[in-house]
Amino acid sequence: MALIRFLTAITALGVLAPVALAGSYGAPPPDIRDRLDALVAAYPEHLISHNGTHITWRDGSKMPVSDGRTDKTFDELLNAPDIDDMFAFAYPAGTKPSAPGVNFDPGRIRSEPFFTKMYGDCRKNAAALRRAKVPWLKKHTGGSVQITTINDVHEALAGVSADLDKLPNRFVRFLKPNSGTYNCRTIAGTKRLSVHAFAAAIDINVKHAHYWKWTKPGSNGTYPWRNKIPQAIVDVFERHGFIWGGRWYHYDSMHFEYRPELFQK
Ligand SMILES: [Zn+2]
Repeated sequence: MALIRFLTAITALGVLAPVALAGSYGAPPPDIRDRLDALVAAYPEHLISHNGTHITWRDGSKMPVSDGRTDKTFDELLNAPDIDDMFAFAYPAGTKPSAPGVNFDPGRIRSEPFFTKMYGDCRKNAAALRRAKVPWLKKHTGGSVQITTINDVHEALAGVSADLDKLPNRFVRFLKPNSGTYNCRTIAGTKRLSVHAFAAAIDINVKHAHYWKWTKPGSNGTYPWRNKIPQAIVDVFERHGFIWGGRWYHYDSMHFEYRPELFQK
């Protein structure tokens, strides 16, 4: 997504000249009120309402939607997003998997204060992360996984597993063995907590996975998209509120996480 904005600046000679600003992320999407409606609707266990500028939590606390910045670099968008930045890229649910544009990472932008308030911070109090054991592909003896019960994610994942069990046998190799759910860790090479630290994500079989960091950028400096995960699997997860890391420019094709706010009703 080309978000380079050209501003007009007055040079020392008083001549008008265009200046390209690399940092141009951070402005709320035009439909931010609808997105906030979806956010409140997605997490009824935690959120009561929003007024366009703040969201209100069930404990009475309020969180600002915007930090007022519209000049973020992509790294700043990733490392210090506000609530509206989480909706910077519309998640293309239900579409045929294909190569995303440069930096198009729908759902990869996450406000850490928002998610740690909801799921807890495993580094400070792992016990606060309520978890349940959910069978994984029971019909195909896939064992079980630990997943959060916050926001009823365990029920959503049980629904995913039951639907995946109904797919033809040729899909099982992508799903079994799974490559993990809960893991109190940061994302490799960053200070950002992984959604695995919230026990709200699952990696399917790593054997068929592709990850942007495992490839070298091409001659033009961009990462070539790779994927083997069939759409039928992605469709099942998305029906139950999980987004797929294979839809990101910075792709992670074995990764699914619970993000119901990104599905438009
Ligand atoms: Zn993952």
